[in-house]
Amino acid sequence: MAEKKEIIGLSREELTSELARIGEKPFRTKQIWQWLYFHGVTDFSKMTNLSKDLRLKLAETFTISRPKIVTEQISSDKTHKWLLEFSDGQRIEMVYIPEEESGAVCISTQVGCAVGCKFCHTGSQKLTRNLSAGEIVSQFMLARDCYDEWPSPTNEVRHLSNIVVMGMGEPLHNQENVIKAINILTDNEGISLSKRRVTMSTSGIAPKIVETMEATGIRLAISLHAPNNTIREKIMPITKKYPLEDVLSACQKYQNADGSRYITFEYLMLDGINDSFECAEELISLMKKYQLRASFNLIPFNPWPECEFKPSSNNRVHAFAKKLNEAGFAAPIRVARGQDILAACGQLKSKKEQ
Ligand code: SAH
Ligand code: SF4
Repeated sequence: MAEKKEIIGLSREELTSELARIGEKPFRTKQIWQWLYFHGVTDFSKMTNLSKDLRLKLAETFTISRPKIVTEQISSDKTHKWLLEFSDGQRIEMVYIPEEESGAVCISTQVGCAVGCKFCHTGSQKLTRNLSAGEIVSQFMLARDCYDEWPSPTNEVRHLSNIVVMGMGEPLHNQENVIKAINILTDNEGISLSKRRVTMSTSGIAPKIVETMEATGIRLAISLHAPNNTIREKIMPITKKYPLEDVLSACQKYQNADGSRYITFEYLMLDGINDSFECAEELISLMKKYQLRASFNLIPFNPWPECEFKPSSNNRVHAFAKKLNEAGFAAPIRVARGQDILAACGQLKSKKEQ
């Protein structure tokens, strides 16, 4: 017998053609789609508006998978971190960051990361492989299983209200699967997350930025972390390949297509590296030069074992924020969440040190 195919992660078109192969009409796509992504069922026998025969046929043809939970931890601030495993044994981490009546799920796109930013724990774990679209989508679906949030809430009140594509991996190094996954996550007849509530962060793979944003319609965040190429190259070697000029020109092009688009620039505050007044001033001129409508997110550096950097002092971070504010830029200081369980930005890692 042929091996069963994973159904999670197929686009609507792919699902329709897979169904055609087993002799089913296109209108079945919508029914099955709703069972999978609106109701979140993990068993074909629960698809009660389909005939028994069809349910059996589907179960013989497809699987409905979730990643396996290896371990989970909940931090003192309620941040929830899962170590997840896929069918080939590869592992990633996912984090849920709850707020009062909402919360963001931080999902991963790759096992490891090839970008190798010096400050990032994930980057110290080389790239093993890309995640498939199904593996990306099923992370969020598993979070919904855990928080009992099926069927998709029809109002905006949700515990799992936002997605940040900011876990392990560089999303634009896995562009095709990421686009496909986002389009499933934001599909109105399924999980139906509003596009405004999904944000993708990239280290700046310049040639892929505009195309990806056009194909998904979600929000863009750029890991900027430095106001010039000299500093940026030292902490983000990818800058040699895609200098700031290329990244910011792509941002400008993206904004020019629609005046309402806003970009978030993430800026990690590293003691003595990128946190001076001059850096803040240079950053402001850079925004003006490219005429970007943007806000900053100042991120306190989260240390991890054996890293070479130190976080900037509180005073420094506040002074930096003030300077940006005076130039008209919002620059909230991100509160680190889940630090006690290594769940904060840049701390995710799924391989044990040798
Ligand atoms: N690869 C993508 C998305 C994942 S990283 C990217 O780099 O944008 C999510 C954010 O965490 C990025 O802004 C990244 O620069 C930041 N980050 C990495 N290491 C960190 C650390 N040790 N402390 C705080 N933030 C970190
Ligand atoms: Fe990769 Fe992002 Fe970490 Fe850089 S910060 S190594 S791009 S995951």
